[in-house]
Amino acid sequence: MPIIVQKFGGTSVADSQKILAAARKAIRAQSQGNQVVMVVSAMGKNTDALIDLARQISEEPPAREMDMLLATGEQVSVALVAMAIHSLGHQAISLTGGQMGIMTDSTHTKARIRSISAERIHQALDAGNIVIAAGFQGIDASNNITTLGRGGSDTTAVALAAALHADTCEIYTDVDGVYTTDPRMIPEARRVAQISYDEMLELATAGAGVMHNRSIEFAKKFAVPVHVRSSFSDNPGTMIVVDPESPGAAVCGAALVKNEAQVTVLGVPDRPGAALSVFSKVAEKHIALDMIVQNEGAEGRADISFTVFRDDLPATLRAVAAAVQELGAEGYTCDESVSKLSVVGLGMATQPGVAGAMFRALAQKGVNIQMISTSQIKISVLVSRESALEALRAVHQAFQLQAAPPTAGRSGPSNQPVACSDGGKLIARLERMETLVIEAIELDESQSRVTFVGLPDTPGLAAQTFDDLAKAGIVVDMIVQSISRQNRANISVTVAQRDLERTLRAATELAKRLGSPSPTHCPEVAKLSVYGVGMRSHTGVAARMFQSLAHQGINVELIGTSEVCVTVVVDRAHGQKAQTALKQEFADAMV
Ligand code: ASP
Ligand code: MG
Repeated sequence: MPIIVQKFGGTSVADSQKILAAARKAIRAQSQGNQVVMVVSAMGKNTDALIDLARQISEEPPAREMDMLLATGEQVSVALVAMAIHSLGHQAISLTGGQMGIMTDSTHTKARIRSISAERIHQALDAGNIVIAAGFQGIDASNNITTLGRGGSDTTAVALAAALHADTCEIYTDVDGVYTTDPRMIPEARRVAQISYDEMLELATAGAGVMHNRSIEFAKKFAVPVHVRSSFSDNPGTMIVVDPESPGAAVCGAALVKNEAQVTVLGVPDRPGAALSVFSKVAEKHIALDMIVQNEGAEGRADISFTVFRDDLPATLRAVAAAVQELGAEGYTCDESVSKLSVVGLGMATQPGVAGAMFRALAQKGVNIQMISTSQIKISVLVSRESALEALRAVHQAFQLQAAPPTAGRSGPSNQPVACSDGGKLIARLERMETLVIEAIELDESQSRVTFVGLPDTPGLAAQTFDDLAKAGIVVDMIVQSISRQNRANISVTVAQRDLERTLRAATELAKRLGSPSPTHCPEVAKLSVYGVGMRSHTGVAARMFQSLAHQGINVELIGTSEVCVTVVVDRAHGQKAQTALKQEFADAMV
């Protein structure tokens, strides 16, 4: 019999009426011939209330006791949901994380799932029950109760769906699907019928916030089809699957992370390992770096910029100050009034001109771009928080995201999930459910780097740069714009080696026109891309990359980061060596 996992978030079980409504959805699915597992969050804002209570008692409650406390929220709701199903005349059994065999590591308040033994759930289902599983919790090897981090019930749901080989995982929430951007900010945003795992991952961190990111990583890893839909209507919702909605569309969505802070470490000695010590100092504080940009240095020194959530800024600056001292860097600057705007789409990997179109839309509104970082399927820019909403609107409009996407088109890029149908291998993978998975470490030796140096930092600059390149018929791969110094910005791009001459010519002309210094370049670079699942939620992936490159004495020229890929550019002479080093570094995580 097909198995369906249905997850209900806090708002969907906020009161007794809503609990009964959720129960009816499960009963309906069962009567349609499915075995049904419900995964339930704590009622309403109960988890917040519990956290608040703990804080009233202690400033720093022990993490173990915090988990003991927080897990009760879900225990309340599963019991009530089971009672609701009984009252409607059907059979149900509620189970805690421990009872259903969700084993985690011992990192209290942000534990990772190690394994799930599906046996108990299968037995209960076979006996005719609807199984009501407590979301967000598990137990460690010593039977301590653990929780998976805020929003973790999504992860429970997708993990159970993977372990039970469920047909779908339905996520019932207070929105009716995934939108091209947050409809509260842009009312004309459109609900998408389908979105790919990779796009959803990039958008989720970019601020879409519909689902817990780790849950999407899971879904991708085990090829679980996820269906996001409203608890309060029967609207069709959004399917999160392997393929995008429209292979013909370059962009599927845009997102804004409003409260970011940007930090630049100035004048870092441009030698192997320098970047590493900045990143590892920050990683030690368990702060996740977001955009990371290192631009080609001048006079043996480079500037490294990155962004963090604004709330993490004070701790970040303490780490940075220490790194500056240790490295003998010139100093650091920060800006806490910035927002990150991203556009995402699998289609942009194969369609030229997407970056140019985005920059032009921003230029037309007079929005200044402070930093640029790209991956194969995402372009992110940093803008002032003041201009962020207008910037989002301009970009949403420029890509016509409010309109239905073209349906005709080439067949989608091959984007096979990591999961395999081979049962034995799948089980092996389930035993380390949340470990980092590296899918590929690719080496591209066919590119050159060109850096536009000291461009005036004014709105429209990037647009003009990319217009010039587009006019010359040049397809740009990576783009990195670092934060400006003295109102001057550097933009580095990588292009195919055969386009180097023409790119340099365009860059030189632009420099002349603007009165800025001549461009610099490196005729042969190696681009190394590390693709994987869990790249971001496993903090320290970037640090591990830099560490292994530094050990080999390899200097990193450019960095680009995204949810599914970290890219570095090094001198081509070191390409092979770098690839070997990275393969060794991540040997345990390769599939
Ligand atoms: N109740 C937990 C929270 O509020 C887990 C969840 O809702 O997913 O974070
Ligand atoms: Mg929640």
